[in-house]
Amino acid sequence: MSQANRFKKLRKIYKEFNKEARKYLEHVACKPGCADCCIDVGNIDTTTLEAMAILKHLKTLKPSKRQLLYANIKKNTREKPRFKRMKCPFLDSRNFCSIYKVRPFSCRRLFSVRTCGESGPAIPRGLWELGEETLGRIYRLDHFGITGHVSYVINLLNDGRFKELYVSGKLKPEIIKDTIQKYDMIINRAAVQKFNVLKLMPGSPDKA
Ligand code: SF4
Ligand code: SF4
Repeated sequence: MSQANRFKKLRKIYKEFNKEARKYLEHVACKPGCADCCIDVGNIDTTTLEAMAILKHLKTLKPSKRQLLYANIKKNTREKPRFKRMKCPFLDSRNFCSIYKVRPFSCRRLFSVRTCGESGPAIPRGLWELGEETLGRIYRLDHFGITGHVSYVINLLNDGRFKELYVSGKLKPEIIKDTIQKYDMIINRAAVQKFNVLKLMPGSPDKA
């Protein structure tokens, strides 16, 4: 399948999730500018396919904005291993997402019935389950890729050889197994096979 078709299918999966999720959203506390979830309350994880969509989007931005975001990614990569809570590199100074249109599913699925603060989100059970089912569909679509913290995955894709292998569909993630282990990433194919996503995602939030 071409990269363009994979993007198309990804957008369809997002759209179907949004449609199904609507029934759970009446009582959520989420609102623009509320951003604890962007400061590592939830996982800021992305699949390789979603990271490719982010990179594509970054190319469309003004050079000054793009440079700022790349500098944030670099800082985030350097500092994340040392800090428990880290601001997402894409969160701007007004607490808005700079890549809202292409934000990964780990952000799209996150809604809470209480304001998160330090306690983390409380997600309606049905919405959590729908999120897991949808995540499984994304893993299947990106079965030869990996999933991990957004800065780490973007850095891997900035390596020309890694990106070439990934885009051609010839990537065997095992070639970077040490990096995968070191940065708590997962191999999507393994997630599809086991499909025990709750165990594979460290720090899964409480469910309401
Ligand atoms: S998930 Fe939590 S922090 Fe994020 S918008 Fe909703 S209430 Fe705010
Ligand atoms: S990508 Fe956007 S929505 Fe997701 S954590 Fe970062 S700033 Fe928040």
